[in-house]
Amino acid sequence: MTMRLKKAIIYILAAITSFVVLCSTAACQLLGEGTTPPENEQTAVPEHSHDYQKGATVAPTCKMQGYTTYSCSCGSSYTDDYVALLKHTFDKSVVEEKHLCSKATCTESTLYYYSCSCGATGDSTFKVGKALGHDYELSPLLSTPATEGNAAVNVYVCQTCGDTYSQLA
Ligand SMILES: [Zn+2]
Ligand SMILES: [Zn+2]
Ligand SMILES: [Zn+2]
Repeated sequence: MTMRLKKAIIYILAAITSFVVLCSTAACQLLGEGTTPPENEQTAVPEHSHDYQKGATVAPTCKMQGYTTYSCSCGSSYTDDYVALLKHTFDKSVVEEKHLCSKATCTESTLYYYSCSCGATGDSTFKVGKALGHDYELSPLLSTPATEGNAAVNVYVCQTCGDTYSQLA
Protein backbone atom coordinates (compact mmCIF):
# COMPACT_ATOMS: atom_id res chain seq x y z
CA MET A 1 0.00 0.00 0.00
CA THR A 2 2.71 2.47 0.98
CA MET A 3 4.82 1.50 -2.02
CA ARG A 4 1.96 2.21 -4.36
CA LEU A 5 1.38 5.59 -2.78
CA LYS A 6 5.08 6.50 -3.12
CA LYS A 7 5.04 5.42 -6.74
CA ALA A 8 2.01 7.54 -7.34
CA ILE A 9 3.63 10.60 -5.75
CA ILE A 10 6.82 10.13 -7.79
CA TYR A 11 4.76 9.80 -10.94
CA ILE A 12 2.85 12.98 -10.19
CA LEU A 13 6.03 14.93 -9.38
CA ALA A 14 7.63 13.74 -12.60
CA ALA A 15 4.58 14.78 -14.55
CA ILE A 16 4.59 18.26 -12.98
CA THR A 17 8.33 18.73 -13.61
CA SER A 18 8.09 17.78 -17.27
CA PHE A 19 5.06 20.01 -17.69
CA VAL A 20 6.93 23.00 -16.22
CA VAL A 21 9.96 22.32 -18.44
CA LEU A 22 7.76 22.12 -21.52
CA CYS A 23 5.94 25.32 -20.66
CA SER A 24 9.08 27.35 -20.06
CA THR A 25 10.63 26.08 -23.29
CA ALA A 26 7.52 27.10 -25.18
CA ALA A 27 7.57 30.52 -23.53
CA CYS A 28 11.21 30.98 -24.50
CA GLN A 29 10.43 30.16 -28.10
CA LEU A 30 7.54 32.61 -28.13
CA LEU A 31 9.66 35.39 -26.66
CA GLY A 32 12.51 34.62 -29.03
CA GLU A 33 10.28 34.88 -32.06
CA GLY A 34 8.85 38.14 -30.80
CA THR A 35 12.16 39.93 -30.44
CA THR A 36 13.92 38.68 -33.58
CA PRO A 37 11.76 38.84 -36.67
CA PRO A 38 12.57 36.39 -39.46
CA GLU A 39 15.25 37.57 -41.86
CA ASN A 40 13.03 37.85 -44.91
CA GLU A 41 10.79 40.38 -43.08
CA GLN A 42 13.75 42.56 -42.12
CA THR A 43 14.85 42.94 -45.72
CA ALA A 44 11.28 43.44 -46.97
CA VAL A 45 10.98 46.81 -45.18
CA PRO A 46 13.78 49.09 -46.41
CA GLU A 47 15.27 51.24 -43.66
CA HIS A 48 13.94 54.80 -43.83
CA SER A 49 16.64 57.43 -43.87
CA HIS A 50 15.31 60.78 -42.73
CA ASP A 51 15.35 63.65 -45.16
CA TYR A 52 15.07 66.74 -42.98
CA GLN A 53 13.82 69.91 -44.61
CA LYS A 54 14.29 73.34 -43.11
CA GLY A 55 10.97 74.55 -41.77
CA ALA A 56 9.68 77.44 -39.72
CA THR A 57 12.21 79.82 -38.18
CA VAL A 58 11.20 81.35 -34.87
CA ALA A 59 12.77 84.74 -34.14
CA PRO A 60 14.33 85.21 -30.71
CA THR A 61 12.59 87.40 -28.15
CA CYS A 62 13.79 88.66 -24.79
CA LYS A 63 12.10 85.64 -23.18
CA MET A 64 12.84 82.84 -25.63
CA GLN A 65 15.70 81.78 -27.87
CA GLY A 66 15.12 81.77 -31.60
CA TYR A 67 15.35 78.45 -33.47
CA THR A 68 14.65 76.66 -36.72
CA THR A 69 12.61 73.49 -37.04
CA TYR A 70 13.75 70.73 -39.36
CA SER A 71 11.29 68.00 -40.21
CA CYS A 72 11.12 64.80 -42.27
CA SER A 73 8.07 63.64 -44.18
CA CYS A 74 7.74 60.76 -41.70
CA GLY A 75 6.82 63.24 -38.97
CA SER A 76 10.17 63.21 -37.21
CA SER A 77 11.53 66.66 -36.44
CA TYR A 78 14.11 68.51 -34.40
CA THR A 79 15.06 72.10 -33.66
CA ASP A 80 18.45 73.66 -34.27
CA ASP A 81 20.17 76.91 -35.19
CA TYR A 82 19.46 78.51 -31.85
CA VAL A 83 19.66 82.28 -31.67
CA ALA A 84 20.50 84.01 -28.38
CA LEU A 85 17.88 85.84 -26.37
CA LEU A 86 17.32 89.48 -27.15
CA LYS A 87 17.92 92.04 -24.45
CA HIS A 88 14.88 93.52 -22.74
CA THR A 89 13.86 96.94 -23.94
CA PHE A 90 12.57 98.93 -21.01
CA ASP A 91 10.63 101.52 -22.92
CA LYS A 92 7.10 100.89 -21.70
CA SER A 93 5.54 103.05 -19.01
CA VAL A 94 2.93 100.62 -17.75
CA VAL A 95 1.14 101.67 -14.58
CA GLU A 96 0.71 98.35 -12.83
CA GLU A 97 1.20 97.20 -9.27
CA LYS A 98 4.08 94.91 -10.26
CA HIS A 99 6.07 97.82 -11.68
CA LEU A 100 5.42 100.08 -8.68
CA CYS A 101 8.56 101.61 -7.19
CA SER A 102 7.10 103.88 -4.49
CA LYS A 103 3.72 105.33 -3.70
CA ALA A 104 3.14 109.08 -3.72
CA THR A 105 4.19 110.97 -0.63
CA CYS A 106 3.57 114.55 0.49
CA THR A 107 6.40 115.74 -1.70
CA GLU A 108 6.91 113.01 -4.33
CA SER A 109 4.76 111.62 -7.11
CA THR A 110 4.12 107.89 -7.37
CA LEU A 111 7.05 106.24 -9.11
CA TYR A 112 6.84 103.28 -11.44
CA TYR A 113 9.63 101.36 -13.14
CA TYR A 114 9.78 101.32 -16.89
CA SER A 115 9.08 97.85 -18.23
CA CYS A 116 9.71 95.69 -21.28
CA SER A 117 6.91 94.59 -23.60
CA CYS A 118 7.43 91.07 -22.24
CA GLY A 119 6.47 92.24 -18.77
CA ALA A 120 9.94 92.38 -17.24
CA THR A 121 10.54 95.29 -14.89
CA GLY A 122 13.44 97.64 -15.55
CA ASP A 123 15.27 99.76 -13.00
CA SER A 124 14.72 103.34 -14.04
CA THR A 125 11.53 105.11 -12.98
CA PHE A 126 8.94 107.55 -14.21
CA LYS A 127 6.50 109.74 -12.27
CA VAL A 128 2.76 109.28 -12.23
CA GLY A 129 0.41 111.92 -10.85
CA LYS A 130 1.32 114.64 -8.40
CA ALA A 131 2.75 114.66 -4.92
CA LEU A 132 -0.02 114.46 -2.31
CA GLY A 133 0.99 117.70 -0.59
CA HIS A 134 1.31 118.14 3.13
CA ASP A 135 -1.74 118.03 5.34
CA TYR A 136 -0.80 120.67 7.92
CA GLU A 137 -2.71 121.24 11.12
CA LEU A 138 -2.03 123.72 13.85
CA SER A 139 -0.36 122.05 16.82
CA PRO A 140 -1.44 123.74 20.09
CA LEU A 141 1.23 121.70 21.86
CA LEU A 142 4.15 123.10 19.82
CA SER A 143 2.77 126.57 19.34
CA THR A 144 3.85 129.28 21.79
CA PRO A 145 1.65 132.11 23.02
CA ALA A 146 2.77 135.70 22.87
CA THR A 147 5.02 136.87 25.64
CA GLU A 148 6.32 140.31 26.47
CA GLY A 149 8.51 141.32 23.57
CA ASN A 150 7.78 138.12 21.58
CA ALA A 151 4.97 137.50 19.17
CA ALA A 152 2.98 134.30 19.32
CA VAL A 153 4.26 131.49 17.10
CA ASN A 154 1.94 128.97 15.55
CA VAL A 155 3.44 125.64 14.64
CA TYR A 156 1.82 123.51 11.99
CA VAL A 157 2.44 119.77 11.68
CA CYS A 158 1.77 117.64 8.64
CA GLN A 159 -0.60 114.82 9.68
CA THR A 160 0.91 112.53 7.08
CA CYS A 161 4.67 112.91 7.34
CA GLY A 162 5.22 114.97 10.48
CA ASP A 163 6.87 117.87 8.66
CA THR A 164 6.49 121.15 10.53
CA TYR A 165 6.64 124.85 9.86
CA SER A 166 6.10 127.83 12.13
CA GLN A 167 4.45 131.12 11.52
CA LEU A 168 4.13 134.26 13.52
CA ALA A 169 0.57 134.48 14.72
ZN1 LIG B 1 11.97 60.37 -41.67
ZN1 LIG C 1 11.65 91.65 -22.28
ZN1 LIG D 1 3.60 115.83 4.74
